[in-house]
Amino acid sequence: RAYNFNAGPAALPLEVLQKAQEEIVDFKGIGMSIMEVSHRSKEYEAVNDETQQLLLELLELPAGYKVLFLQGGASTQFAMLPMNLLTAGKVGSYVMTGSWAEKAIQEAKLIGETHIAASSKEGVLHIPALSEIEIPENAAYLHVTSNETIAGTQYQEFPDTGSIPLVSDMSSDILSRRIDASKFSLIYAGAQKNLGPSGVTIVVAKEDLFNNAPKTIPTMLRYSTYLKNNSLYNTPPVYSIYMVNLVLKWVKEQGGVAAVEKANREKTDLIYNVLDNSGGFYEGLAQKDSRSIMNVTFKLQTEELEKEFLALAKKNGFVGLGGHRSVGHLRASTYNAVPYASCKALVDLLDEFKRTHG
Ligand code: PLP
Repeated sequence: RAYNFNAGPAALPLEVLQKAQEEIVDFKGIGMSIMEVSHRSKEYEAVNDETQQLLLELLELPAGYKVLFLQGGASTQFAMLPMNLLTAGKVGSYVMTGSWAEKAIQEAKLIGETHIAASSKEGVLHIPALSEIEIPENAAYLHVTSNETIAGTQYQEFPDTGSIPLVSDMSSDILSRRIDASKFSLIYAGAQKNLGPSGVTIVVAKEDLFNNAPKTIPTMLRYSTYLKNNSLYNTPPVYSIYMVNLVLKWVKEQGGVAAVEKANREKTDLIYNVLDNSGGFYEGLAQKDSRSIMNVTFKLQTEELEKEFLALAKKNGFVGLGGHRSVGHLRASTYNAVPYASCKALVDLLDEFKRTHG
């Protein structure tokens, strides 16, 4: 298998792919794959319910939270969130940390009034200090992007927002580390990094959050439609949800989120150490206090060297190490399913390249 450092869709655990392969023709003796049964069948309903339970369990959430399965990616959530929560007289408050936060804000502006609670400094890849965050009294919510996939920055702790709902786009770091998820009123994530393949978007929210949602929201864009119908109002992305089910079981088998976090920190420590001890040959892009354990962004001193490095990496079976088209440079995405061995192979390659080009 390739050393897969893709930013998304991203690596899936080999064991999960093998289990899916085993079950693709005949799911648990029913003579069909799970893709071929009705979403109202008892077989699929068991997958649907179990996947929700697993996620609530892994997030260590108390009673009162529900898991919803939606489509349209996290990008649809940028709009759906304000449609449901940004009611008249309220303002959607956002922490501006990079490209993904910016996209969320742009969509909210189409729906209602927005506010910037804090912002990263121009040209610096970092997460603002929590003490800088100012939330207006009439905020419908405070929105944070827990991990900026492109910049390679990640919140190390989250703000206390009192009675104002805290909302997060966790697309690129959900289940990467233990957090106090009960701080959040709503978490959303496209599945295709830490949870499974693309096609399903996860929303985890407090059940009572949508009591004041405007009545004019179209049915499929209303959270309460999914809540009331156990995410079975219409045909859900059955196969993606089944894959999320397998991934969540895999996380449990690893020892849960705490064990996955330990592995993620070991993986990224390995890489950051090589960057930091390269005498300036490599340079991490994110400010040290904001570094992500999911996306390691870094650079070489010239574009020429970066091209050469990428060519060598490709030759050696590495994929996905180019930076996002908007920032360039290099990025290694080290999501949960990326094995330690891939990160070790990467640092060996980084060492070799420095030895031959430094
Ligand atoms: N938010 C973050 C933090 C992301 O990394 C991405 C995709 O990379 C998105 C949102 C967009 O997700 P989707 O492609 O599911 O709309």
